[in-house]
Amino acid sequence: MPIIVKNPIVEMDGDEMTRIIWQMIKEKLILPHLQIDLKYFDLGIRHRDDTDDRVTIEAAEAIRRHHVGVKCATITPNAARVKEYDLKKQWPSPNATIRSMLDGTVFRKPIIVKNVPPAVRSWTRPIMIGRHAYGDLYTSRELVVDVPGRAELVFTPAGGGQPRTVVVHEFKGPGVVMGMHNTDASIRSFARACIQYALAEKADIWFGAKDTISKQYHGRFRDIFGEEAEAAKGGFAAAGIQYRYMLIDDAVAQVVKSPGGMLWACMNYDGDVMSDMVASGFGSLGLMTSVLVSPDGNYEYEAAHGTVTRHYYEHQKGNPTSTNSVASIFAWTGAIARRGELDGTPDVTAFCRRLEQTVIRTVEDGVMTKDLAAIADPRPGKHATTGEFIDVVAQRL
Ligand code: NAP
Ligand code: MG
Repeated sequence: MPIIVKNPIVEMDGDEMTRIIWQMIKEKLILPHLQIDLKYFDLGIRHRDDTDDRVTIEAAEAIRRHHVGVKCATITPNAARVKEYDLKKQWPSPNATIRSMLDGTVFRKPIIVKNVPPAVRSWTRPIMIGRHAYGDLYTSRELVVDVPGRAELVFTPAGGGQPRTVVVHEFKGPGVVMGMHNTDASIRSFARACIQYALAEKADIWFGAKDTISKQYHGRFRDIFGEEAEAAKGGFAAAGIQYRYMLIDDAVAQVVKSPGGMLWACMNYDGDVMSDMVASGFGSLGLMTSVLVSPDGNYEYEAAHGTVTRHYYEHQKGNPTSTNSVASIFAWTGAIARRGELDGTPDVTAFCRRLEQTVIRTVEDGVMTKDLAAIADPRPGKHATTGEFIDVVAQRL
């Protein structure tokens, strides 16, 4: 008897090697065990191109309606991809579109398996990263300046009144200039999302910014985060956790010497960069999970890695591949378990924990893909192909 998942989950398909893995996970690990209503959106690059990217917007709207989504990795087209897939244009990153529509915070957490030691010896517990997923560099406007001239920031109040102007730079020759923004509301919801997540994980929060240099922009983040942390003091004490503000460079230095176990709250760009550092430090991008949490309670789960293009080209040539599916499996279990929590169906949540434990034990018993086999201790005699790994998990389940 399949376990019944009460309410729908939004499923977003993707590209290349992860699209192949996606299908295998769904057919072999999910659908045989669960009766589940998946609202399917094909975010594969061809379908995004065919729909002028409307499908991405529709998927984000569906997440707002159903509150839980699971997403496969997708191609963010650059000039080379436009050529490769004969695209109408360089469509924006689906993740960026979804993030700005949900105004969310992205949390990344590595999956720890005993026989894959971290690159940093002191890291014994997961380092979770909370990335503010709105604004800054990612919604900036920029200009290449090719002649001497003055660049200014101008703010014009909507209700009339004096515009405010700041000179950014007097250019004597060519250069570049950029304008970035954020909003109090988004910063506040970022802080609240981090606080919620830290309370649930019973993890300290570290927040780093560069307020010594950027006294107003970064200072604003520090102040708002501090206010929210102050308001949550009672909850922190009850959970036995702490909030620490530090300079971003100090945070980086301390994280590397720490045992882990904290939620590291990062501004958008810091989170982008540091999550890749932390992911490779814990072994492989294939072990890093990611969830976008919006302030009004929507959740989108995915693997942190991309579409693994190199492996896909090998697959297309008919060569065997050994692509790690662990983070993609955990995207599915994360979403379905969240659905189970929201629906109050503990059997659904329990199934997800069982699947996760099966995956971890499979790797700990020495069955793993090539990326892990290269760094595991002890080293397994051989590595599993993409399909073999999923088949072993399916059998054990
Ligand atoms: P990537 O797909 O993450 O892969 C980079 C390299 O990391 C791979 O070539 C592989 O190394 C290793 N790797 C990543 N995931 C792995 C896994 N599950 N198992 C084994 N090895 C893994 O990043 P990319 O090559 O920079 O980007 C490829 C495409 O993905 C791009 O079109 C990009 O736009 C897109 N992307 C999408 C997302 C998303 O949708 N969330 C995120 C990032 C990138 P080896 O080659 O050494 O085996
Ligand atoms: Mg990145």
